[in-house]
Amino acid sequence: MTVPRAARHDAVTRGLLSRTVATVASLALAGCGAGTGSAAEAGDDVRVVAAFYPFAYVAERVAGDDAAVENLTAPGAEPHDLELSPQQVAAISEATVVVYERGFQPAVDEAVAQNAPGAVVEVTAVVQPLAGDPHIWQDPTRLAAVADAVAEALAGADGEHATAYRERAGQLGSELRDLDEDFRQGLADCDRRSFVTSHAAFGYLAERYDLEMVSISGLSPESEPSPARLAEVQQIAAEEGVTTIFYETLVSPDVAEALAGDLGLQTAVLDPVEGLTDATADEDYFSLMRANLAALRHANGCT
Ligand SMILES: [Zn+2]
Repeated sequence: MTVPRAARHDAVTRGLLSRTVATVASLALAGCGAGTGSAAEAGDDVRVVAAFYPFAYVAERVAGDDAAVENLTAPGAEPHDLELSPQQVAAISEATVVVYERGFQPAVDEAVAQNAPGAVVEVTAVVQPLAGDPHIWQDPTRLAAVADAVAEALAGADGEHATAYRERAGQLGSELRDLDEDFRQGLADCDRRSFVTSHAAFGYLAERYDLEMVSISGLSPESEPSPARLAEVQQIAAEEGVTTIFYETLVSPDVAEALAGDLGLQTAVLDPVEGLTDATADEDYFSLMRANLAALRHANGCT
């Protein structure tokens, strides 16, 4: 009687398919409408809270359908000065895994310290950090190490899906190593190695691909550069034959545009990939990083 049983299973599957698809679609829409990050419907008991976009992206890729992911930093918000709502603090205290970077968002550091969540992936403990620069995700190979750490934390908390978490982290790691190779080859042979950017978000990228980052405003995206710093950047730009002043998506381009205007240079976007905006809602970590690579190759005359 095994054949009838299989046939019955098939028939039930086919009969339910259209209704199931409709239900999943409406759940997905409800999730988007809530506006506080995405949630996998199948894994609501295993929950990852990620501090901001690059870590949320990694968490979603590793979690698949086996865990829900919440991003604490809303799209369009600058993660550097994130403040947490009481609901977000509660989400941290109830999370299966929290992924964050110590020293980048003081409100998150404090909430993690006070609310002792289940498991913590603290990124500077996973990868070798560069002194004073929090933007570790600008090095794809370091982000691959974060993916492995997230997979291990999830595997420890949810052993039933351990293999799936590790496989997805492995797949993401291989895509990140491909991206790294594209950057390495794409930036190997260039007329210039210096690039000018508004905030100093690209130290990891510069270190990994042997570029020289000249930042107008330093590490804080909102800070106003001094006249002395502007004069210094102007001089470096002239000496190095820089063609382009880069600015970024979450911060006003005013300073970059004024400087470029004074020097007769172009401006272009170099996205620090700290978060998505309305304009980049359809992008993801990989498409934004590849757009950055194209912009750098164009600005620096790479062949
Ligand atoms: Zn930044």
